[in-house]
Amino acid sequence: MVQKNLIDGEWIAGSEAFRNINPSDTNDVVGEYARASAEDARAAIAAAKAAFPAWSRSGILERHAILRKTADEILARKDELGKLLSREEGKTLAEGIGETVRAGQIFDFFAGECLRLAGEVLPSARPNIGVEITREPIGVVGIITPWNFPIAIPAWKIAPALCYGNTVVFKPAELVPGSSWAIVDILHRAGLPKGVLNLVMGKGSVVGQAMLDSPDIHAITFTGSTGTGKRVALASVEHNRKYQLEMGGKNPFVVLDDADLAVAVEAAVNSAFFSTGQRCTASSRLIVTEGIHDRFVGAMGERMKGLVIDDALKAGTQIGPVVDESQLNQDTDYIAIGRQEGAKLAFGGELLKRDTPGFYLQPALFTEATNAMRISREEIFGPVASVIRVKDYDEALTVANDTPFGLSSGIATTSLKHATHFKRNADAGMVMVNLPTAGVDFHVPFGGRKGSSHGSREQGRYAAEFYTTVKTAYTLA
Ligand code: NDP
Repeated sequence: MVQKNLIDGEWIAGSEAFRNINPSDTNDVVGEYARASAEDARAAIAAAKAAFPAWSRSGILERHAILRKTADEILARKDELGKLLSREEGKTLAEGIGETVRAGQIFDFFAGECLRLAGEVLPSARPNIGVEITREPIGVVGIITPWNFPIAIPAWKIAPALCYGNTVVFKPAELVPGSSWAIVDILHRAGLPKGVLNLVMGKGSVVGQAMLDSPDIHAITFTGSTGTGKRVALASVEHNRKYQLEMGGKNPFVVLDDADLAVAVEAAVNSAFFSTGQRCTASSRLIVTEGIHDRFVGAMGERMKGLVIDDALKAGTQIGPVVDESQLNQDTDYIAIGRQEGAKLAFGGELLKRDTPGFYLQPALFTEATNAMRISREEIFGPVASVIRVKDYDEALTVANDTPFGLSSGIATTSLKHATHFKRNADAGMVMVNLPTAGVDFHVPFGGRKGSSHGSREQGRYAAEFYTTVKTAYTLA
């Protein structure tokens, strides 16, 4: 059965369909999904526009109830939805279930936020006049999501958009339509009025582009590559619309001489290789001071030997396959580039065979890398990390900040002085001390600086900044 798109409250088949393939076993077809056309996208935008006046004035209890019901169903079905996610994306079952729980928590959080909408009342600078500051919804929000977090990223964009009274046109990555379809189905059954949330699965170059080109989308929130992010920005400037971009990272993880070696290795392995290195918060630059360098590299090699890389759904798997062939080619191309540049491939990097045909890659660790190499400057988005040797903390901080990106930055140290200094001076939106660069909470802001992000923060109460517009009203008493 082909899973359809949701446009104006109706499930629409369209003329084309595409297959969702399991990267752990390319013989396994997860499902078939309707491929929306540009015309479908325009119909979805028109439906969202028509639904906006009523939804933006809907009561907070109605919105609360729908988001709450959605949270409850996602959490009740976490095992099934987590399995679907792991099957379509390739992260391990534990990671898939964990991400699903996070999506449930996000809907729960924004269900609560509906009940806490507030403004400010101030005296005017002039006598006998009152001033009220309120937040209002923006209108039709376009949501474009990547493949690496198939349920959490849609959740952290859809939940606040609806909470604050916006209507939505949602385009998930074509590689992973299953999880997105499932949450749209849940929200639809939870009682969303027709047209409030529209799903258009399909190609970015067709459906996504139709969204960028529409004058009726008032805001676009995007997560994905820097190249597509730029297109979103240019089109948004053209249409004078609000936009928010979460793009790549080249996140540093600093290891100082005084670090607890076990803590440093565990955090580095998690940062670099878990979720197959396919997290925008993953670390691919391990910046290590010379006094601990050799011990750190030795311990990393030992730890990496023990990693279990296999089918995402198998018990005991710690790292699943790469998401698809083109991403696998990108990873192996960068491994070749690193060697050509003169870095030493100290561990891993070879393709692996497993019981089923899939995109299996042994995580790779380079040593003798410099921060000027392409493997240290460009986002690889796979399980490939480089060790960069530095003299001391000062050099480590300089190298950590010497990147066009600025999403997450980590340090392993037992020194309060260095931890405090790093927190203040790391040029990144998120800083981790003795923790992996990836792995964040659902109720606090998420986002970066420089080439990693544009616009206001996502998640937590800071999400209101993007999904609302502020009104200042003056009344003569
Ligand atoms: P893209 O930026 O191409 O994809 C992200 C989303 O944008 C997808 O839904 C995609 O649709 C859509 N899209 C593509 N082209 C357009 C367009 N012209 N107009 C509007 N929307 C469009 O990233 P990829 O998935 O191709 O991944 C490529 C690289 O991006 C990765 O190797 C990685 O380096 C980086 N990346 C970074 C992420 C992050 O979280 N920072 C997440 C994912 C990728 P569709 O895929 O259906 O064509």
